[in-house]
Amino acid sequence: MSITSNLQEVWHAVKAATEQAGRDPSSVSILAVSKTFGPEAVIEAAGGGQVAFGENYLQEALDKQQAIQTLRPDLALEWHFIGPIQSNKTRPIAEHFAWAHAVDREKIARRLSEQRPPDLPPLNICLQVNVSGEASKSGISPEDLPALAKVVATLPNLRLRGLMAIPEPAEDFESQCKPFELMRSLQQQLAATGIMTDTLSMGMSADMVAAIAEGATIVRIGTAIFGKRDYAK
Ligand SMILES: *Cc1c(COP(=O)(O)O)cnc(C)c1O
Repeated sequence: MSITSNLQEVWHAVKAATEQAGRDPSSVSILAVSKTFGPEAVIEAAGGGQVAFGENYLQEALDKQQAIQTLRPDLALEWHFIGPIQSNKTRPIAEHFAWAHAVDREKIARRLSEQRPPDLPPLNICLQVNVSGEASKSGISPEDLPALAKVVATLPNLRLRGLMAIPEPAEDFESQCKPFELMRSLQQQLAATGIMTDTLSMGMSADMVAAIAEGATIVRIGTAIFGKRDYAK
């Protein structure tokens, strides 16, 4: 299967899932997760109409952006950093991305805001929430989320867009829905305190339908678009 036809299948699957959930298909967008795949794969997906790309590893992402800039300077792509963020990596993320999805500490948020170049629009931020308890090391706990959201919402060069989660893999639909349902209620709780957000970044190739049923607005899809990743390369 080609990337272009995979992309079309994912679009159809997203559309079907939104209709099943009684949602407007335009309320969900696809973030194509291109980690481990080269510039050619991104260029092919862009040719199929994909604009937003997600990357986890900073150096790989920067090299890829540069290569694409050289090969296809006409392409205006939107880059999302979706990996964990170390404090010594905040500057290039603030300089080279439109979104950061995995912010879970105040220190990181403050650095991103300080280092965002003034000629760029605010960096769009999702706060990563740990919805899997002990099983996960990253993400802020639901209890500590309101305090972090309050700080991030006030930082001048960031725009708090919403919440992101990577739940533990679950087999059946009902168990997949649970953590996504929690995400939706956390977003509503923030709204009740006056912190309005418009984004739930949740759902990957294997649990996208459950995420959309619970209100995902961005699904992060890698394998279903680009194929299986080979980390040995
Ligand atoms: C790799 C990755 C994805 C894509 O996962 P697939 O199962 O390949 O769709 C989505 N989100 C994050 C944070 C990832 O690291």
